[in-house]
Amino acid sequence: MPEATILLVEDNKAQAKKVKDFLKRQGYEVIWVENGTSAIKTAKTESVDLILLDLVLPDLSGTEICRWLKSNSDTRGIPIIMLTAKGSVTDKVTGLEAGADDYLPKPYSEVELNARIYACLRTKALQDELREKNRQLEELLAKVELLAITDPLTGLYNRRHFENVLAKEVRRAVRYGSSLACMMIDIDHFKKINDEYGHHAGDQVLKNVAQILEDNVRGIDTVARWGGEEFIIILPHIKKEDAMQPAARIKEAVAQHTFPELSGKKVTVSIGIASVPDPSIDNEEKLINAADFAMYEAKNKGRNRIEIAR
Ligand code: GH3
Ligand code: MG
Ligand code: MG
Ligand code: MG
Repeated sequence: MPEATILLVEDNKAQAKKVKDFLKRQGYEVIWVENGTSAIKTAKTESVDLILLDLVLPDLSGTEICRWLKSNSDTRGIPIIMLTAKGSVTDKVTGLEAGADDYLPKPYSEVELNARIYACLRTKALQDELREKNRQLEELLAKVELLAITDPLTGLYNRRHFENVLAKEVRRAVRYGSSLACMMIDIDHFKKINDEYGHHAGDQVLKNVAQILEDNVRGIDTVARWGGEEFIIILPHIKKEDAMQPAARIKEAVAQHTFPELSGKKVTVSIGIASVPDPSIDNEEKLINAADFAMYEAKNKGRNRIEIAR
C-alpha cells in the first residue's frame, strides 16, 4: 500500500535510520520522531495512516502513548504496531491491552515488518470503507424518513405525519391544561383556478400558498398539507382569541400575493379555527372536526374570512 504515511517513533537513531530507509524503499512516506510527546503531537496534526511505536522511549512509555492515542477520537482509528523486546510476554500483553493492533519483537526482519504493516493497513482500509458505507446508508435512511413525512408538491409535512404530531400535542395540552389551536385553511374556488389557468398553474398556487403559511407562523407551529387545496396548522400554547392574529396575517398575505401564473388574478382562503381547552373537545379528531366545521362556516358566510368554532 504505497502512498501511506507511517509515523515511526524510535529513539535509537541507528535503528530508526535503517527502518526509515527500508520503508521509503517500499514506497511509504515516513515521519520519524524520537519521543512520545512528538509522537502524540504528530499523530494529532499530521495525516498518519499507521504508527510504528517503540515501547521504551525517553519521555513516555509506548503503552502510555498507545493508551492516549486510542482514547482520543482524532487518533483512535490509526493502527499501531508496537515494537517490543524479544520474548517478553509481559510487554506484548501490556501493549495489546493498551490498544495496540499488533506487536513486533525486536530485532525483527524487514520482511516480517513489511508483512505486518501491509496487514494492518489493509484492515484499516476495510474498516474505513465499512464506516463510509455505514455513513452513506444512514444518510440514505434519513432521506427516506424525510420523504415518508413530506408532501412532494409543497414540501410541507404530509397528513400522516401531521396526525402523529397533532395526537401528541393534543394529549399534552389536555393533560397539562395548556392551550392549543388548530387552523384549517381551504383555498377559495380553487377548481376555477385549475379550469381557467390549468393544472400546472394550480400546482404553483398550492406551492406559493404553502410558502405563505410557513412564512406566517412561529417555529413551534406545524404546517401540513391536509389534502388537495386544504392545509392545516397546529399552534401550541395559543388561546382561541389569540389564534385570530396569525389567521388574519395568513388571510391577508394570501389575498395580497401576486401569483405569476394567474396574470393578476387574486386568490383567497377561508379559515376555520378550533382550540383546546374546550369542554366538547377531548381528542384530536374532535379538534379537527371543529376546525373543519368552522372553515365551512367561513365558506358559507362568503369566503375570504375566518371563523372560530364556538
Ligand atoms: P371552495 O371555495 O368551496 O373551496 O371551492 P373549490 O373549488 O376550492 O373546492 P373543490 O373541492 O370543489 O375543488 C378543489 C379542487 O382542487 C378540485 C381538485 O381538482 C383540485 N386539486 C386537488 N389537488 C390538487 C393538486 O394537487 N393540484 C391541482 N392543480 N389541483 C388540485
Ligand atoms: Mg527505545
Ligand atoms: Mg377550496
Ligand atoms: Mg376543499
